[in-house]
Amino acid sequence: MRKDFLVFGSPLIGEEEIKEVVDSLRSGWIGTGPKVAKFEKMFREYKGVPFAVALNSCTAALHLSLLAIGLKPGDEVITTTMTFCASVNAIIHAKATPVFVDCQRDTMNVDPREIEKNITHKTRAILPVHFAGRPCDMDAIMDIAKKHKLKVIEDCAHAIEAEYKGNKTGTFGDLACFSFYVTKNIITGEGGMVITLHEEYADTIKVLGLHGMSRDAWKRFSDDGYKHYQVVYPGFKYNMMDLQASIGIHQLKKVQANWKKRKAIWSAYNKAFKDMPVETPAPVEGNTKHAFHLYTILVDKEKTGISRDAFLDAMTLENIGVGVHYRSILTHPYYQQTFKLNPEDYPNSYYIGERTVSLPFSAKLTDKDVNDVIEAVRRVLGKG
Ligand SMILES: *Cc1c(COP(=O)(O)O)cnc(C)c1O
Repeated sequence: MRKDFLVFGSPLIGEEEIKEVVDSLRSGWIGTGPKVAKFEKMFREYKGVPFAVALNSCTAALHLSLLAIGLKPGDEVITTTMTFCASVNAIIHAKATPVFVDCQRDTMNVDPREIEKNITHKTRAILPVHFAGRPCDMDAIMDIAKKHKLKVIEDCAHAIEAEYKGNKTGTFGDLACFSFYVTKNIITGEGGMVITLHEEYADTIKVLGLHGMSRDAWKRFSDDGYKHYQVVYPGFKYNMMDLQASIGIHQLKKVQANWKKRKAIWSAYNKAFKDMPVETPAPVEGNTKHAFHLYTILVDKEKTGISRDAFLDAMTLENIGVGVHYRSILTHPYYQQTFKLNPEDYPNSYYIGERTVSLPFSAKLTDKDVNDVIEAVRRVLGKG
């Protein structure tokens, strides 16, 4: 058995990132400054979009994106039951009402037919999540949005590298949000980004993200001399620091190299688990690029003899860190009680949520780590 514990989602950080952080510390400019501006520029170029605003999380990015489209209380935003709570909380904090639709059983992405069924005269936006890095069916979603005049905000927290029919995720909707949290495909510790094709959204988000101060208030202490700022809205404290951008600049340079490493791990896992009684991820759809953020297996007690939760414990005893992404949103008491919903009415996300296990899948994994994970799964299932 493996001797040291393999931490789930531990990021790959190089000397470049470390040197850049130290450079910021020595420069004395730690907060929002030139490195944030550089990271935003690199991100714009990576995605081929005119506007990018760096923030301190994807949750902040989702919140401000939903505010930017001008939602009013009672407006409805349709999202998926197979996502992280932040996608839903952002809708609630924008004072709109989340409307939940089930995911597809195989892709785990939101089912466009379910979106259409749930549209009412109050629907204003769709918030799809490119789950695990697999791009959603954006043709279908954008057709629905166009037909019903809805805004689309893409939750790209898992999907920085993903592409759909030759176009990059995040370039379909009105706005798109990215996460650089420690377990994500590129990391800044905590961090997020909004991209958009629309200047007015970018301007609004920049202002809302820094106390509601008028544009470029962060420059007020620069060597151009002190400048007064004006507060134009009661905003939020969501700006990214140069310390974070220092990491992001170098992470973004390595995004493709690290993607290739995870792609190889994906293939190794697929091959190893083919003959085991667990369900592996659906194949990557043609004409798409999967971002390979999560590698999930479904552990069904009827097939394996071991329950998902017992499997999680057994893997931990094998010194392999595991995750669950996610239990259906509606298994959480707040959403269940507030919106009077039953998780079993969302059978696909409920089925997945009670069986899914995320295996270690970071670009940091060595061949031996990957082999240790495979051996541990084999042993744990053998016990089942
Ligand atoms: C991680 C995640 C978020 C939130 O990202 P933070 O940067 O941690 O705020 C939002 N949506 C999804 C789908 C996520 O996985």
